[in-house]
Amino acid sequence: MDLIDLHTHTTASDGSLTPPELVDLAHEIGLKAMAVTDHDTLAGLDQALKRARDLGFELVPGVEISADFKPGSMHILGYLIDHKSPNLASRLATLQEARLTRNPKIAARLGKLGLGVSMAEVEAVAGGGQVGRPHFAKVMLDKGYVSSFEEAFDRFLAKGAPAYVDKFRLSPAKALALIREAGGLPVLAHPYTLKLDKPADLEDLLADLKRSGLAGLETYYSEHTPQMTKDYLALAQKFDLQPTGGSDFHGANKTHIKLGRGRGGLAVPYDLLIGLRQRKKLL
Ligand code: AMP
Ligand code: ZN
Ligand code: FE
Ligand code: FE
Repeated sequence: MDLIDLHTHTTASDGSLTPPELVDLAHEIGLKAMAVTDHDTLAGLDQALKRARDLGFELVPGVEISADFKPGSMHILGYLIDHKSPNLASRLATLQEARLTRNPKIAARLGKLGLGVSMAEVEAVAGGGQVGRPHFAKVMLDKGYVSSFEEAFDRFLAKGAPAYVDKFRLSPAKALALIREAGGLPVLAHPYTLKLDKPADLEDLLADLKRSGLAGLETYYSEHTPQMTKDYLALAQKFDLQPTGGSDFHGANKTHIKLGRGRGGLAVPYDLLIGLRQRKKLL
């Protein structure tokens, strides 16, 4: 079976590989296609697309936008976007500014907890790309404040934890519209992070998002159990959403996740990308 990975991060956001390095890795391990989906930025796409062209590798331009949602977090992936769209770029710039004001606040909260992490340290880990919480987690791990990446999130950085700082986000409807306006297909990422425990609540949300332009549902994901994948596939069918999947690879900033393989059992079939491309043609 031809395998793909439709959810990956580069140094343009909080991954550790540069866009060309990531494309090289995907090509080396034999993936048939990959999407680059950095958080709130298109900055890695030109370089990734260029390397993919040189290698004859199929690369899908993407993005991952954080939307405003409670109780958990909502991430919306955008696929097959026009990454030269000025409107998309300018709206994403606003989200990046929100990160710039947030990061020093996270550092200050960690400092108050006795865990000194300077902006220079996280910026060094970020290597020039935009800083996010995984960079804080990496520094905390390197300095021995925590013994795992997960511990850094669970005890300090996760929503509701003592060093968590909120940031401005687009509403779900605005994030969907923004991706649509850039010619892309919006897909709801890792649905379990929404923390909607009642199945009926997730169904209501999907119906609502579908009306606002949602095109797909991320069903295959590193942290999904086989049962979750099965349930999400059924929901995708019920709401006529294209199933998609990916590892959420971040390289050394999330070492337990392997490109294309997730925690080891992930296998995303190429057919899903064919389905996405068919939906794009119908636009
Ligand atoms: P940020 O963009 O700074 O909000 O950070 C988002 C990144 O943090 C994403 O790559 C997530 O995969 C990661 N992340 C968010 N929450 C957790 C968590 N509880 N455990 C591990 N990683 C997380
Ligand atoms: Zn990330
Ligand atoms: Fe995400
Ligand atoms: Fe992601």
